[in-house]
Amino acid sequence: MMRAMVLEKPGTELRLVETPQPTPKDQQVVIKVRACAVCRTDLHLVDGELPDIRYPLIPGHQVVGEITAVGGRAELAVGARVGVAWLGWTCGDCEYCASDRENLCDRARFNGYHVDGGYAEYMLADSRYCFPLDSSEPAEQIAPLLCGGLIGYRCLRLTGEAEKVGIYGFGSAAHLVTQAAIYQGREIYAFTRPGDEAAAVFAGELGAVWVGGSDQPAPEPLDAAIIFAPVGALVPKALKDLKKGGKVICGGIHMSDIPRFPYADLWGEREIRSVANLTRQDGNEFLKLARDAKITAQIQTYALEEANAALAALRTGAITGTAVLVID
Ligand SMILES: [Zn+2]
Ligand SMILES: [Zn+2]
Repeated sequence: MMRAMVLEKPGTELRLVETPQPTPKDQQVVIKVRACAVCRTDLHLVDGELPDIRYPLIPGHQVVGEITAVGGRAELAVGARVGVAWLGWTCGDCEYCASDRENLCDRARFNGYHVDGGYAEYMLADSRYCFPLDSSEPAEQIAPLLCGGLIGYRCLRLTGEAEKVGIYGFGSAAHLVTQAAIYQGREIYAFTRPGDEAAAVFAGELGAVWVGGSDQPAPEPLDAAIIFAPVGALVPKALKDLKKGGKVICGGIHMSDIPRFPYADLWGEREIRSVANLTRQDGNEFLKLARDAKITAQIQTYALEEANAALAALRTGAITGTAVLVID
């Protein structure tokens, strides 16, 4: 048996349950979870804001642990230390998989959404979608890299060669992507929630060249903007902060409606683009970059059974960096 935090219906707290440990088949492995970071997507799941959630569900898609059992065709061995991210399985033959865009796979399954995730002592994963970890960093330090870091990296990559990059919403993804961007020689302009002093101080400590409220205009035109806050009104705001040819990248899986805005604000070949999920290549590239750049996550740890408290703290903006469940 194992302990797990389960979402039984939308809009309710997770419930601590005892449930049988999973058994691996074929390419699957069982992972003893050491740490699982908490993501804003988990809040959207709890709130029922994503389509086709199956209940009961164990959330969690930023997992670090060790393999304790393998299926007959698994590509990893017992004892291997691995990371598990959002992408859990892809079909391998739709038009997206066939063109190196497995993040857009028509039949993709995501960990902690379509299949049970890491808010548990053990989880099942497809070995082909696990990231082998050779880092000796503690599990709770690596876990935040696996969604906040990775999605942030994909957003940053899609800004191309942008030098002056605005970041809107300064939480888990932002604090990791800021470190990656500075390592790559870019300048970060941090837009925090008006009045959120802690986030503003944090952004400054991480090396942002400018920090201000998201209601303030950028001090000079930017090459790109990355929006992590789930606030649609930031899209036309960010567009106004851009140079001609600039890009707005929306990094969240869910956002409130985008208000209407004049075409003149989009004119000049400005672009708005969403980032959906990740590819395994993103994961491998970012984990290497994180090692080279010595990216460190600022974490606040919680026990497994405190998952509801971690989610509540994330919701109110009380987390500086990333909340991580640490499982004994
Ligand atoms: Zn996530
Ligand atoms: Zn596919």
